[in-house]
Amino acid sequence: MTTEAIRVEDYYEPATFRRIKDLADTRETPFVVIDTETVGKHYDELIGHFPFAKVHYAVKANPAVELITLLRDRGANFDIASIYELEKVMGLGVGAERCIFGNTIKKARDIRAFYEKGVRMFATDSEADLRNIAKAAPGSRVYVRILTEGTHTADWPLSRKFGCQTDMALDLMILARDLGLDPYGVSFHVGSQQRDIGAWDAAIGKVKIMFERLRDEVGIELKMINLGGGFPANYITKTNDLALYAQEIIRFLKEDFGEQLPEIILEPGRSLIANAGVLVSEVVLISRKSRTALQRWVFTDVGKFSGLIETLDEAIKYPIYTEKKGEMEEVVIAGPTCDSADIMYENYKYGLPLNLAIGDRLYWFSTGAYTTSYSAVEFNGFPPLKAYYI
Ligand SMILES: *Cc1c(COP(=O)(O)O)cnc(C)c1O
Repeated sequence: MTTEAIRVEDYYEPATFRRIKDLADTRETPFVVIDTETVGKHYDELIGHFPFAKVHYAVKANPAVELITLLRDRGANFDIASIYELEKVMGLGVGAERCIFGNTIKKARDIRAFYEKGVRMFATDSEADLRNIAKAAPGSRVYVRILTEGTHTADWPLSRKFGCQTDMALDLMILARDLGLDPYGVSFHVGSQQRDIGAWDAAIGKVKIMFERLRDEVGIELKMINLGGGFPANYITKTNDLALYAQEIIRFLKEDFGEQLPEIILEPGRSLIANAGVLVSEVVLISRKSRTALQRWVFTDVGKFSGLIETLDEAIKYPIYTEKKGEMEEVVIAGPTCDSADIMYENYKYGLPLNLAIGDRLYWFSTGAYTTSYSAVEFNGFPPLKAYYI
């Protein structure tokens, strides 16, 4: 339960929050404000910890032009999931050699379109997809995505749907060679907002076995490991900080691969962007469901369909801040639409001050990633979540 009041200073530099608040005070809710300087800082921090890695930003986390250009200018590469993302990123002057097609689920004609634009690196996890790549993107580099375990410690798992068992991954790399492709490496994603650093240890161990077996049994030398995303942002549920993630992951890599590491790719999304954002909303209504009900329902002008979809199953627990102070009370927090799925928190007890009133603002912290890009277009007529980049 979080009946403790959320404190700004646990999530933002005071100057950063002031910048965000100055803009927020002049706009009508709901909207998210994203501080680009914070994104740049997180990017620099990540490459500081992993100086030997190539960083491919997972565009789906937040595809705003302001962020793509910022990361472009800092030399980042991009993990692209669709032809639309590719067109956007390349339209902003990013060369095809900085893009990889990281989605294992794709149409043959999109593979062809990527190839024609110059992309030469593709993820795969199935035979049918691999055969499509061989036809539509001949000679390209392919890396195979493996399934990982331990996704229950990730707050937003990306398990089951992506990746294949390592035996199958071995077969796919051999088939890739036979089809004239370049069997280049292995990828995994331990689950987004992964709280257990040990998840990387298990996955890197599997990759090591793949490298060895392909080398020893069929003479294929893999060259690259793609460690995916999963690095933490700052929500209510605490995580270790990035420095410890980096230290441990580098230790796992060196234990398995020695000092001469293969090429390493990282695909951060959430960890670069989330903590740069504040979603600002207003209380629409506060009610009780019966005369004697102990709990109040707090309805806000933002909900599951306007950027907060990661509250599904209460997976991501955003810190919610209000300027009202005083005695706290447990509440249910729900969105404004006519859909009963539009309840953000009911089981996990959020506390808000008893004197919170209709019209007050609620500030949802760490909402820079996976909010704007998930927002519905017109459900109940509500427009998509607005975003301001400062
Ligand atoms: C979503 C995604 C990422 C980003 O993951 P985060 O946990 O947000 O860092 C990276 N790689 C792939 C393939 C993804 O689908």
